[in-house]
Amino acid sequence: MAVILAMGCRERSRGALNIPGYRPAGIYSAGTAQRLVNIEGYLPGRRVVILGSGDIGLIMARRMTLEGAQVQAVAELMPYSGGLKRNIVQCLDDYGIPLKLSHTVVDIKGKERVEGIMLARVDEKSRPIPGTEEFYECDTLLLSVGLIPENELSGQMGVILNPVTSGPVVNESLETNLEGVFACGNVLHVHDLVDFVSEEAKAAGKNAAYYVKRSKYEAEGEEKKASRQTTIWIHPEYGVRYTVPSVLHMQRMAEEQVIRFRVGNEYKNSVIRVELDGNLVQGRKRPVMAPGEMEQVKLKKKELSAVLEKAGRTEAAHHLVIRVEEN
Ligand SMILES: Cc1cc2nc3c(=O)[nH]c(=O)nc-3n(C[C@H](O)[C@H](O)[C@H](O)COP(=O)(O)OP(=O)(O)OC[C@H]3O[C@@H](n4cnc5c(N)ncnc54)[C@H](O)[C@@H]3O)c2cc1C
Repeated sequence: MAVILAMGCRERSRGALNIPGYRPAGIYSAGTAQRLVNIEGYLPGRRVVILGSGDIGLIMARRMTLEGAQVQAVAELMPYSGGLKRNIVQCLDDYGIPLKLSHTVVDIKGKERVEGIMLARVDEKSRPIPGTEEFYECDTLLLSVGLIPENELSGQMGVILNPVTSGPVVNESLETNLEGVFACGNVLHVHDLVDFVSEEAKAAGKNAAYYVKRSKYEAEGEEKKASRQTTIWIHPEYGVRYTVPSVLHMQRMAEEQVIRFRVGNEYKNSVIRVELDGNLVQGRKRPVMAPGEMEQVKLKKKELSAVLEKAGRTEAAHHLVIRVEEN
C-alpha cells in the first residue's frame, strides 16, 4: 500500500502577526475574501489595504478593484515582493495600486469596524521605524501573509520535515523518509503556480503506483535492487534556500529529473551552478531571480553518470551542490 500526502496549506492568520489594536470587523484573510467574493457574492469592503505581496495578495488587489472597491495600497514587510513579476505588473501597476515595500501595519484604528490602518517603514531587521507612520483610511484589511503547509498529520506519522519549507523531505520519487509515503503539492512546499502542483501530483501518483507494483514484485522475489542504490544528496548553497527533492537514488530517477527550489534574495544576471562531487554539471544563466518565483534545474541521468564516470567516482554516496553565482 502507498499513501500520498496532499493536504495543501493554510493561510497564516492575524494571530501569527501580533498587530496591535482592537478586533474590529473588516479584517479578513485573502482566502476568506476570495470565498466571499467568488462563491458567496459579497464584497468584503469598499476601501481596502492589503498586507502581503505574495501572489494571493496581488491577485486580490486586482480582484477587489474589478469588483468596485478602492485598493489603497499593498504593503510588504520585505524589500521585495513575494509574488511573480507578472502579477505585480498585471495586478498592481495596471491599476495604479501602490506597492509599499519594507512596510508593515503597526496599528489598526476602529472599534466596531476597521476605520483605517497605520503603515510604517521597517528597517533591515523588520522593525518599524518611528516617525515613518502613514495613516490609510479604509474599512477593510486583507491579510495575505504567508501559507503554512498542513503537516501536523505528517509529523504525527513520523515524516521528517524540512525546516525551510515546513514540508516533508523527499527523494526523487517524492517519497518521504517513510517507505511508501509520498508527498506533493503545497503540503510539500508552497508553489507559485498551480501548474507545477499538478505536475508534481502526477509524478507522485505514478511513483506511488510503481511502488505498489514493486512491493508486489519484491514480495514475490522478482526484483531486489533497492539495496544497491547510488545515492546523491542535494545541498542548497549560496542563494538557494532549499531544494525539492533533497536526495536522488540514481537507479530510480527518471532520465530527466526536475529539481525545484527558491532563491533567498533578488539576483540579476547570475548563474545557477550545479556541481556533483565538485565537478561542474551545469551553469545556467538567469537574467532575474526573485524569492517569489520558483526556480528549477533539469538533471539528466546520463550526464550525472558521465560526470561520475569521468571523475572515477565509484562510491555509493555523492553530493550535488546547487548555488547562485553572482557576476
Ligand atoms: C487563499 C489561496 C488563494 C489561491 N489562489 C490561487 C489562484 O488564484 N490561482 C492559482 O493558480 N493558485 C491559487 N492558489 C494556489 C493553489 O490553490 C494551490 O497551488 C493548489 O490548490 C495546491 O494544491 P494542493 O492539492 O497541494 O492543495 P489544496 O488545493 O489546498 O488541496 C488540499 C486538500 O486537502 C484537504 N485536506 C487537508 N487535510 C486533510 C486531512 N487531514 N484529511 C483529508 N483532507 C484533508 C483540504 O481540505 C484540501 O481540500 C491559492 C492558494 C490559497 C491558499
